[in-house]
Amino acid sequence: MSGSEFQLIEWLRARVGRDPRVPVGIGDDAAVIAPSAGAAGLVAVDMLMEGVHFTLPPATPRDVGRKALAVNLSDIAAMAGVPTLAVVAVALPRARGYEFAQELHRGLHELAREFDVALAGGDTNVWDGGLVVAVTVFGEATARGPVLRGGARPGDWILVTGALGGSLAGKHLSFVPRVREALRLHEAAGLNAMIDLSDGLATDLHRVLDESKVGAVLRAEAIPVSDAARAAADGRTPLEHALEDGEDFELLFTLAEEDARRLLASPPIELPLAHIGEITTGSGCELIDTDGKRRALPRAGWEHAF
Ligand code: ADP
Ligand code: MG
Repeated sequence: MSGSEFQLIEWLRARVGRDPRVPVGIGDDAAVIAPSAGAAGLVAVDMLMEGVHFTLPPATPRDVGRKALAVNLSDIAAMAGVPTLAVVAVALPRARGYEFAQELHRGLHELAREFDVALAGGDTNVWDGGLVVAVTVFGEATARGPVLRGGARPGDWILVTGALGGSLAGKHLSFVPRVREALRLHEAAGLNAMIDLSDGLATDLHRVLDESKVGAVLRAEAIPVSDAARAAADGRTPLEHALEDGEDFELLFTLAEEDARRLLASPPIELPLAHIGEITTGSGCELIDTDGKRRALPRAGWEHAF
């Protein structure tokens, strides 16, 4: 089936229901939104590009639509925020046709429904290049305030959710953004600093340390290694995968020791929580290997170079 931009927008408009947070949505020049009074607003944008962040196949257009929103929800989760609205800008490859565009939006809308995010609008373009999707998501901090990268304090314990590494085997397309977990954790304990692990534990932990002007010690044996990281037989150890692989989309956070002990004694979430180390004075990160030797942990991981 072929179609036009106009047809697609009419289809989108019929699919996206009305929402009190968006008094005027798809169909006008700009959306009118109704933010809650008093809450700190959050906004994040992330772009996914064919050939850089995914290839088609193995990813389906539905996967890409879902992931384009999921990475943004993960950023709101990392602030311990509630996502509320999203807008989406797409550059659609002409050759892939109309149903491809519908599938992309279906993937995005399904996840939006799952997380009660209203779709306020977007921009649709068709070209002869690859698929590009940029989602902007809006959210609100809770009464406890947003959790920043810069709030870690010496003595804090460092915790992570879930298991790390090997995401490329599949999780990078199907991960569940840890929005609910972040809210429950922050409600239960008052977190000092948090980041979502998108570029690898080693890299993302250094971002927290730099912003907070502190150092850290990690224990190798405490780092939760995923089954996918153990299964990857490519010459790198499972621990290296867990430290360096990107796109885990788990949460790393720090909090006072007594709060961490309480949290671990009665976890407010079902996902596993691992205590992987502590925040120290100074800078940089040390890793205590399984044989007890200490070494500096470089900020290895995924970074776009140009
Ligand atoms: P304009 O030319 O005034 O920017 P558009 O024709 O780009 O208007 O968009 C028409 C309406 O459709 C707008 O309300 C816009 O937010 C919405 N829209 C366009 N593309 C998308 C999309 N991919 N997803 C959701 N809403 C979209
Ligand atoms: Mg427009």
